Amino acid sequence: MTTRRKFIQLSALGASLLPFGKSFAKGHEGQKPIVLSTWNFGLQANVDAWKILSSGGRALDAVEAGARVPEGDPKETSVGLGGLPDREGKVTLDACIMDEHGNCGSVAFLEHIVHPISVARKVMEKTPHVMLVGDGALQFALANGFKKEKLLTKESEKAWKEWLKKSEYKPVANIENHDTIGIIALDAQGNLSGACTTSGMAYKMRGRVGDSPIIGAGLYVDNEIGAATSTGVGEEVIRIVGCHLVVELMRQGNSPADACRLAVERILKKNPEKAKQVQVGFLALNKNGEYGAYCLQKGFTYAVHTNDGNKLYDGVSHF
Ligand code: ASP
Repeated sequence: MTTRRKFIQLSALGASLLPFGKSFAKGHEGQKPIVLSTWNFGLQANVDAWKILSSGGRALDAVEAGARVPEGDPKETSVGLGGLPDREGKVTLDACIMDEHGNCGSVAFLEHIVHPISVARKVMEKTPHVMLVGDGALQFALANGFKKEKLLTKESEKAWKEWLKKSEYKPVANIENHDTIGIIALDAQGNLSGACTTSGMAYKMRGRVGDSPIIGAGLYVDNEIGAATSTGVGEEVIRIVGCHLVVELMRQGNSPADACRLAVERILKKNPEKAKQVQVGFLALNKNGEYGAYCLQKGFTYAVHTNDGNKLYDGVSHF
């Protein structure tokens, strides 16, 4: 007997097999395994994730491995080591991870740890909680063998001192004073997982947390339907619980590309003036391995690795 739940699930998958001709946003044919990551640094992240996926590994291990690449790269100024600091000169990191069983873990306002994504995974696997923040997250990380390190590089410190001269908080779309890595994957077994990690908006107020470590906002995975992740001004994503919305839109039968577009349009509808000034981008993948992206402003890129190789795409933009 087909239960209502199964019916919704099947119709969602059936609808996404339809040709994409009617779709406003660009869609892509499905395949597995597959991994998708936000921005240009997603190409490098995908390489490490692909090593795991191509040898039959688990999507969860792949997304963690991928996220660790920009986290450990001091030249990337929006994630992990070398991330631009808050307005007091402190690097504070946010990350979350979610697996095919709906397990999830998150850390926010975490200082001194290069790989917050791995701390988030430990929160998921070793605690009864979903989210640890600030000093508590640091204490947990240290107790689990992570090392305390200096995250502020000379370059980031120099950029912060330059910023202090005017002290104007004006995030500019697509420049490297923000840009999260969101990474979502479907493994050969047909299981989905996702990870998201960032140093957040450069020169944010001390204690500010964006969408990236918030399950449902910066990342959401439902192994029956699909996965989504976001980047851009986190406040706008939190207001619409963006990635949960994208997954629910896929559940209703939308392709990943259309689901991303509809979520961006929700932001636009709620505050058209604000939407003109900020960047938000969504990236989504469904259970069939079909994917899509949509953003407010031009300039959002994402990387896709399949058996056909590792490629960078431009997200379709509203403006
Ligand atoms: N979403 C991140 C935040 O608001 C920043 C970004 O992805 O650009 O912290």
